[in-house]
Amino acid sequence: MAIDDPSQPLERLHNNDAATLALQLSENLLRNLLETIPDRIWLKDTHGIHLACNAAFAEHVGATTAQIVGTDDAHWFGKALAEEFLRADRIVIQTGQSLTLEGTMPSAQHNDPSVYEVIKTPMRDANGNIIGVLGMGRNIQARKDTEARLRDATEQLELALMGADLGRWDHDLSVEKGYYLDERSCAMLGREPAESTHGRAWGHLIHPDDLPGTLDAMRAHLSGDLPAYEAEYRARHMAGHWVWLGNRGKVVQVSDSGKPLRMVGTLMDISKRKRVEGELLATQAELQSTLKAIEHLAFHDTLTGLPNRRMLIDRLETALAASQRNQTHGALLFLDLDKFKALNDSFGHDVGDLMLQEVAQRLVHCIRAVDTVARLGGDEFVLLIQNLSGSVDDAKLHASTVGHKILASLNEPYLLKDVVHRITPSIGATLFMGHALDGAELLKQADLAMYEAKAKGRNTMCFFKENGL
Ligand code: GH3
Ligand code: MG
Repeated sequence: MAIDDPSQPLERLHNNDAATLALQLSENLLRNLLETIPDRIWLKDTHGIHLACNAAFAEHVGATTAQIVGTDDAHWFGKALAEEFLRADRIVIQTGQSLTLEGTMPSAQHNDPSVYEVIKTPMRDANGNIIGVLGMGRNIQARKDTEARLRDATEQLELALMGADLGRWDHDLSVEKGYYLDERSCAMLGREPAESTHGRAWGHLIHPDDLPGTLDAMRAHLSGDLPAYEAEYRARHMAGHWVWLGNRGKVVQVSDSGKPLRMVGTLMDISKRKRVEGELLATQAELQSTLKAIEHLAFHDTLTGLPNRRMLIDRLETALAASQRNQTHGALLFLDLDKFKALNDSFGHDVGDLMLQEVAQRLVHCIRAVDTVARLGGDEFVLLIQNLSGSVDDAKLHASTVGHKILASLNEPYLLKDVVHRITPSIGATLFMGHALDGAELLKQADLAMYEAKAKGRNTMCFFKENGL
């Protein structure tokens, strides 16, 4: 046909050709589209006879489109399955509505076990009459497998949580009341299972004393300083008491800008553990105080509470080392009460005890904190005086001053059980410098000096002779 021919009939012919071409193009396009769709697509008339299908469907049944058109489903899927398909088609035709189904569609050629999602839609003519059913089948086996795996994993997680007696929580951080507890968490707090569907604010559940630490732990995780959120706190039980909970969680969703949106975690009732820990701490404290008491007993005199001989020996060793180091003198004063037996005999042992306690008090007041007063036993006391002068004379003067202070103090009257008593001491003193003599030898010297004081008539103080008396 000459396209430059200006005659009318020819122009009409030309227009008709263009329309046919356009129609053909549109049909080709549609067919292309249909063939490209990976889903199986078929069209059957109201009697179940195939009118058209795409390549995916043809491949599914193992035939060509030309072989399929004009046949029914029984030919390709067997009688039983074909009847099942027909029942669904009839529902679509009767209701005029689409129908979505799930099931297998194994053909005689390909025994495909996959699950398909099939959507059946009524096809209508220009007048709206149903002329057939359009089917579209999509293989959803992969989705089904993923769902099954997810279900499996969820069940295993649930089993693990149940086995460990853990509750779960889910916190939508973008809303105020976005904290959800599962049924087991609800049970830990004495709440009804139905409350697991209620969102709530989070902080008010927590004991005010535990809230700051818990918030710190939460902030440390939200800011990325810690890889997980972990806290132990007391939470309010519906019955009014507090329950210790161990909480662990993690951010599982963040916004595009990195802002945490959602956290999930677990709750564990750790009340029992906390109780045991508390009892253990109390037992430890008790044990500690018992050990302290035992230690005190081992190093102290029970009647006066003063250090005993053992502690005096220890302190003396330390004092000798310090004296050696500092080149300063120390003094040891041995003190024995005069005629103490007579007090015991006349007024009783308990009055004697009171006297010993009072003497101990007065001796403590006569010395400095660095010095030591010990009771050796009976009516014998020893005073260890440290850090005296480097010069013997000055040291002796100082020791003598302390001795006379003691004499004056112990000479004061004693009011014991409403009766005024008097007692005097005899004191023997010796000086030391460094390790020249050991503790036992020094004690012996002071003891000898004390006997000399007794011999001199008592209520006096004598220095050991070798120290230059
Ligand atoms: P002297 O002047 O020679 O020291 O005479 P004294 O009577 O004080 O004799 P001595 O120091 O030898 O006797 C100490 C007495 O202290 C002997 C004992 O009856 C008494 N005594 C010992 N231990 C205790 C005690 O724990 N409580 C009481 N009340 N008396 C005790
Ligand atoms: Mg005595």
